[in-house]
Amino acid sequence: MIPFKAKALLIDLDGTIYHGKHAIKDAGRLIACLKKSGLPYRFVTNNSSTSPDKVAERLREMGIDAEAGDVCTSAQAAAAYVAACKPGAAVHVIGEEGLLDALREAGLHLQSEAPDFVVQGIDRCFTYEKAALAVDRIRGGATYVLTNPDLLLPSDNGFIPGAGSIGAMLSAASGAEPVLIGKPSSILMDYALQQLGCNAEETWVIGDNLATDIAAGKAAGCGTLLVLTGLTTCDNYEVYAQKAGCRPDLICTALDDVINWITGEQAAHAGMPPIREE
Ligand SMILES: [Mg+2]
Repeated sequence: MIPFKAKALLIDLDGTIYHGKHAIKDAGRLIACLKKSGLPYRFVTNNSSTSPDKVAERLREMGIDAEAGDVCTSAQAAAAYVAACKPGAAVHVIGEEGLLDALREAGLHLQSEAPDFVVQGIDRCFTYEKAALAVDRIRGGATYVLTNPDLLLPSDNGFIPGAGSIGAMLSAASGAEPVLIGKPSSILMDYALQQLGCNAEETWVIGDNLATDIAAGKAAGCGTLLVLTGLTTCDNYEVYAQKAGCRPDLICTALDDVINWITGEQAAHAGMPPIREE
């Protein structure tokens, strides 16, 4: 077992802390334990549609202690990326409130005429006209930035097309590959690390998805802990690990095991599938 030496944590939300409107067992206890220990952490989400304020509110409604400052979204990381490339840049945006707010807060100018960047996230009011305009701007020389490559999103009515599905259309039509911000890209993780003021080597990523959370953690140079609370199970682990082309440093079957690992109370690897060296 790897002893707990992390100085900070980056924690996924969907499938790790909650499912839909329900907290995952021991999620509240895990966060309370982190608050009590003073260990710095951030919730890191690929979702660009919602502001950190609303994400925190949703967590509190589930009984999980959270403030806006605990949350890093792909919208914030996209805005920081663009602002770092060109402060005050002109941005044509396809997205929802969370992305529009983040871009404005980063001092960027939202305009469709002669933009430096096209920044695209999920837009549940996406139209053919919006696609045509964005493709025209990308073909005209604007740098194309995609908040997150997720093709599908869980919703109350089953899976719906995500930002990556809109991105696939814009990419096919424009011939441009976007700059990816969200997991599995390391850009979102790097942004969260910067917010925490911590190095990758002393930070661990906790998530339920090998292809996004674990891959992004590895790309950023962090330790990686897979939890079997969401997408990955003992039964599908091997298939997903092969597909993702990466394996975590540690696996916990439940959040209770994560708490035990952090507090050093008992072996966290009880009941884990075997981890093979790459
Ligand atoms: Mg997840």
